[in-house]
Amino acid sequence: MLFDTHMHTCFSTDSKMKIDEAVMKGKELGIGITITEHMDIFYPEPLSFVFDVDQYFAAYNQYRSESVLLGIEIGMRADCIEENCRIVEKYPFDYVIGSVHILDNIDIYAAEFYQGKSKQDVYRHYFATMLECIKCYDGIHSLGHIDYIARYARFADPEVYYHEFKEQIDEVLIVLANKGKALEINTRRLDRKESIEILLPIYQRFYELGGRMVTVGSDAHRMTEVGRGLEVGQEIADRSQLKVVYFKDGKPHYVKV
Ligand SMILES: [Zn+2]
Ligand SMILES: [Zn+2]
Repeated sequence: MLFDTHMHTCFSTDSKMKIDEAVMKGKELGIGITITEHMDIFYPEPLSFVFDVDQYFAAYNQYRSESVLLGIEIGMRADCIEENCRIVEKYPFDYVIGSVHILDNIDIYAAEFYQGKSKQDVYRHYFATMLECIKCYDGIHSLGHIDYIARYARFADPEVYYHEFKEQIDEVLIVLANKGKALEINTRRLDRKESIEILLPIYQRFYELGGRMVTVGSDAHRMTEVGRGLEVGQEIADRSQLKVVYFKDGKPHYVKV
């Protein structure tokens, strides 16, 4: 069964999707789904992008099945490692995504972050932050959207080219590979054929450096986005010799195709 391993319902500050809608869409498409709510501790705007994990499990446990799994997307930063680890250890998540959403206490989404800075400086800082975090965050299963910054960066060409940042990207991929972690193929930007070809070298390099597992997720925030681009993710994995997995009870399961 194919699995969409990244989506947000109403426990996430930026989503209104109901779990019933996600479950319905998953059934309709014949795929499994993993809910991964946002937990960005110390988000610059207080009480945004955090949720009550007790309430989450109380409300969603009844939906749990072989094809509906409960996870979390942790916003990784260096100043709340212990807090995040406590959450990950305390609750029975199927799956934990580690993501970088914040740099220098500013949301990567914010235009002001890019003012007066060059792409080289910003992206090097982005990968350096990612590297520090994945060295420290042992509880994650997969690194979320390595190309996240390309969604929002205010540069003429925001794409993450492997050749442009190879030293920085290699350092990240080596740590992931050595720790046996997965790398996510986030399909949100893969509507554009160019993005597929641009990101492919990163995944091929991950394999060369010893990485073996990828997770594929749509990062859906509404029902229509659930399951989007799973076949493109599979294509990138195949072309990189990587295996697509989903995590259940913290253990990887191969997606059969
Ligand atoms: Zn994210
Ligand atoms: Zn997300």
